[in-house]
Amino acid sequence: MDEFHLYIDGAFVPGEATFPSLDPATGTPWALMPEARAPQVNAAVQAAYGAFHGPWAQMTATQRGKLLLKLADLVQAAAPRLAALETRDTGKIIRETSAQIAYVADYYRYYAGLADKIEGAHLPIDKPDMEVWTRREPIGVVAAIVPWNSQLFLSAVKLGPALAAGCTVVLKASEDGPAPLLDFAKLIHEAGFPPGVVNIITGFGPDCGHILTTHPKVAHIAFTGGPGTARAVVRNSAENLASTSLELGGKSPFIVFADADLDSAVNAQVSGIFAATGQSCVAGSRLLIQSSVKDAFLAKLKAKAEAIRIASPQEMTTEVGPLCTQRQRDHITQLIAASLAKGATLVTGGKPLPGPGFYFPPTILDCSAAPEAPAIRDEFFGPVLSVTSFDTEEQALALANDTEYGLASGVFTASLTRAHRMIRGLRAGVVWVNTYRAVSPIAPFGGHGLSGHGREGGLAAALDYTTTKTVWLRTSDDPIPDPFVMR
Ligand code: NAD
Repeated sequence: MDEFHLYIDGAFVPGEATFPSLDPATGTPWALMPEARAPQVNAAVQAAYGAFHGPWAQMTATQRGKLLLKLADLVQAAAPRLAALETRDTGKIIRETSAQIAYVADYYRYYAGLADKIEGAHLPIDKPDMEVWTRREPIGVVAAIVPWNSQLFLSAVKLGPALAAGCTVVLKASEDGPAPLLDFAKLIHEAGFPPGVVNIITGFGPDCGHILTTHPKVAHIAFTGGPGTARAVVRNSAENLASTSLELGGKSPFIVFADADLDSAVNAQVSGIFAATGQSCVAGSRLLIQSSVKDAFLAKLKAKAEAIRIASPQEMTTEVGPLCTQRQRDHITQLIAASLAKGATLVTGGKPLPGPGFYFPPTILDCSAAPEAPAIRDEFFGPVLSVTSFDTEEQALALANDTEYGLASGVFTASLTRAHRMIRGLRAGVVWVNTYRAVSPIAPFGGHGLSGHGREGGLAAALDYTTTKTVWLRTSDDPIPDPFVMR
């Protein structure tokens, strides 16, 4: 079996123990992963702390940018290898991992360019004998924690801005499918980052994640995962008072009005819920369809869903591969059963596929007569779409906003004025109009409510990794007058 290592302080080292990683396409172990526990987590944070106060602090922002540019080129060159590893370890189809990882290089390029443009400000202060300005300084050691889906992407949106800002990082890959990030460590090494600037580990919640997020030398926690784990992470941050940014799940509405281009909207819906086998935080998992076109839309969608090619994730022609874990498959199966019990009806799919591997077919649940079905409220994180119909724009907006999440949303309409009204009314961090699932390093991304807080992507993300230092410089040569009067 292949064996992977942790990357701590510029060296590839074993874990405290090893654990097997399963190939989701077969359900069998294919590699041994290193498990970081307290000694490795502490060593990684210590290395990051040493680098933060040592060699990394000596480098100019422009030099940091050049290293990020080099990393971007290395990611681009290694994209086929990393894509094959991600597909093998997580089951995400090769068609998607190949395209996504090649684009990840552009995220590093964006933050490479930003490194020496993070500026402070000179303040027009209200005192004649003072010069006052602010400096944007790196916040310190960052604990970056990512789940197993899209992990090269989800780590790039943390590493890119953190390194550009001058922070050092301990990146914890998920215990499910950590191979691509552990392999990515080779590129960090090759790019020539000083030892300790980026450390990449993996392990389990209690022995690794908990120790990392409570560590007194961690200043910021950048977390992507589920809301339950996020609550644990926030509680952990009470120990070190680290700041947090949280990118969590979603139950994003996908709203189709009767005047929309239905064929285009059907394609976007397929992409929104069945791409990545639905294991996407922005999955458009709640279809809200105007009643007058419900039957026509569902007929087209059902035909497309049933024509999807479900096969090995390694094949370029595969459209839906396995789920990452058996746990995911069980969760989805239970949520469907609970929704059917509340009156939802199956349009297609609904049962796990037999045979080896964690396969689940594209599934559509009509919940129009089942407002209490959990499928309307709970995140599946799989290829399952709930359908609800509406008559008026007001109803559509009320249904769309009737969620504890607030990550993404999609609106399909030919009316420019309605689009603007919906954009204004939707409570979500992202609104896509007549498109879905588009991302860019230039565009901020994130949510509110149960979907978390903080933004990844764009300029503001880099500022989240900085802290402001205010400098007061007195320009008068006269002695300080009355010491008992505040100046
Ligand atoms: P998860 O919350 O179970 O795990 C995420 C990470 O947290 C893993 O690395 C895990 O080891 C770690 N962890 C677990 N317990 C911890 C603890 N006590 N302290 C610190 N770390 C701990 O998530 P998952 O099931 O792997 O991923 C799916 C979830 O991620 C979904 O809810 C999905 O919507 C969300 N997600 C969000 C985004 C986004 O950008 N908003 C992107 C992708 C996935």
